[in-house]
Amino acid sequence: MIAIRGAISVDHNTREDILSSAKQMLKEIIKINRMEIRQIISVIFSVTNDLNQAYPAAAARELGITEAGLMCQQEMYVESGLPKCLRVMVLAETGDEQSSARHIYMKEAARLRPEFARFFAVAVDGPAGVGKGTLAQNLARALRFIYVDTGAMYRAAAYFCLKKDVPLTDAEQVENALANMCLSIENQNNIQRILLDGVDVTDELRTPEVSDASSKVAVIQAVRDKLLILQRKTAEGNNIVMEGRDIGSRVLPDAQIKIYLDADIDERAGRRLKDRDDMGISSDFAEIRRELEERDRRDIQRAHSPLKRAADAVLIDSTHMSPLQVMEAAMCIIYEKTGGLYGIRYSQNIGGDNIPPQIPH
Ligand code: C5P
Repeated sequence: MIAIRGAISVDHNTREDILSSAKQMLKEIIKINRMEIRQIISVIFSVTNDLNQAYPAAAARELGITEAGLMCQQEMYVESGLPKCLRVMVLAETGDEQSSARHIYMKEAARLRPEFARFFAVAVDGPAGVGKGTLAQNLARALRFIYVDTGAMYRAAAYFCLKKDVPLTDAEQVENALANMCLSIENQNNIQRILLDGVDVTDELRTPEVSDASSKVAVIQAVRDKLLILQRKTAEGNNIVMEGRDIGSRVLPDAQIKIYLDADIDERAGRRLKDRDDMGISSDFAEIRRELEERDRRDIQRAHSPLKRAADAVLIDSTHMSPLQVMEAAMCIIYEKTGGLYGIRYSQNIGGDNIPPQIPH
């Protein structure tokens, strides 16, 4: 028999919030501990005295936990305690040792036991110029998650090599040069800044030359291995939205939400042309289209962590969608995937002719 602890903060003292939070926490405990409902012996809930609109045991019954002993009680009052907090103790006969029990602390309650905090990762992958940056930044802002742009890391590596005249196709020389690269990431008001040797180079990384060079250094395994460590470290202990090419498939294979954003090449080239026009840079549609195609080709065909849709990623084809519609579709996916903990419920009113996203289970 194992004992599993959990806790979650509840946004409002309403029946709906109490029950949905209880369900969310129980589902996560069952999933992460790989248990079956029939193995649950008892579930004891406690709530702080500011939650009095529902018995959380009702949520357990709605999930099908009907054989186990259920009980609800009030948590002892501690002046400095976390308000609106729902705690649980699940006893289950899983056949595992107690040491294998995974305790789950969610939302504000993650602060109670940081070592058991359950963090959420949203992976946004897709080809060049598809609007991953816009979507990922909007999501991070709306969810209050940290935004991480991994493409900027490859751009920084490329920029570093360009500055040092390192031939980009020589894997050994690139690897040797990058051994001396001191790359760090700062997050200022959810805008990611990239520092090379302590100097902020973020604004120099978006030129066509650096774009092209970035997909050349990105084929080199040593470069990917080096950046993978930094990317995973950045994600550790944070709720994040991370965008790139291999986030769902390689960097964060356990991300709870994986979105693969795609769009027709002509549409992507048109959007990029408009961006450049807006910035006062005169560009040629055919040339931009060629640049994007060339980068996609390198990203898809490379041997190490190529661009591909992870099996459990939800596809959003944004060819005929506005940025707002893409954002709404993504928020609906997040709502479904997190059991209503984050995101928004699909409503007929959003996104015009937007279709509800198809969620693979
Ligand atoms: O997303 P962005 O266009 O800034 O990425 C620049 C390049 O970095 C991509 O064309 C790709 O070659 C590389 N990249 C990658 N894996 C990632 C993110 C970017 O290979 N996760």
